[in-house]
Amino acid sequence: MQIIRGKDELADALADLRSSGGTVALVPTMGALHAGHMALISEARRLARHVVASIFVNPTQFGPNEDLDRYPRRVASDSAMLEQEGCAILWAPDAATMYPDGVEATVRAGKLGEDLDGAARPGHFDGVATVVARLLDQVRPDVALFGEKDYQQLAVIRQLVRDLALPVEIVGVPTQRDADGLALSSRNIYLSGEERIAARALPRALGEAARAVSEGEPVAEALAKARETLARAGFAPIDYVELRDSETLGPAGFPARPARLLAAAYLGKTRLIDNLPVPLRKRS
Ligand code: AMP
Repeated sequence: MQIIRGKDELADALADLRSSGGTVALVPTMGALHAGHMALISEARRLARHVVASIFVNPTQFGPNEDLDRYPRRVASDSAMLEQEGCAILWAPDAATMYPDGVEATVRAGKLGEDLDGAARPGHFDGVATVVARLLDQVRPDVALFGEKDYQQLAVIRQLVRDLALPVEIVGVPTQRDADGLALSSRNIYLSGEERIAARALPRALGEAARAVSEGEPVAEALAKARETLARAGFAPIDYVELRDSETLGPAGFPARPARLLAAAYLGKTRLIDNLPVPLRKRS
């Protein structure tokens, strides 16, 4: 695996890959890799001949009081994991390479980016859309993979690719979880031992609410119970617990249309997010 930090070097390495034939997949990450990221890499290997992973802790998607400075950085162990999974290129630019003229021309995520996580983290999805547009332009992959763990991000990127008619297929990969249900996340290392145990309440609350809604419980009641479960486990503040349309993330039209439950809440200083599909009611 080649570890590449400069744009010219990247262009040369991609030309070499392309000349050997076959398709290229891109898996963008911020590093501190775990089994969730590796599921994206192995799906990428299945879908394309060559896999390019990127590691870039993107400053434009962090708010002024967020964790940019303390975000975990572990390029040595990350690159060992990527190499073992058969990645061809690790694209690891620094901020000056990604944004050589600063961040002047940006991509706006639009309305979808101002809702849910975007309401709690103003500008976050504009930063995501801006960096993903640059990564897609730099790598020109046939397919790019993103996790359902960041469900709104996946929706924002699908819209970006549709609106700009970018020639890439976007693939979503199901959320990988620890044995107790907590979604794997680079931020889980911020949790104390006690918080890590309490964190189980997040997938549990969503699972219970998803089941209740699919069995016909009024949505408002199911969501209120989920908020109670989270509050009892020590989550505060709770940014949102919402049922939305799976595709548009607008108001849910369940059960006529598939729906997604999404939540974000703090345990101590750590903000956790999660989401689950709501199973369509079985016909009796
Ligand atoms: P990040 O490094 O957190 O920016 O994540 C890079 C990519 O990995 C994003 O597309 C995430 O949605 C995806 N990802 C992160 N955690 C998980 C997980 N537990 N399961 C599946 N995908 C994940």
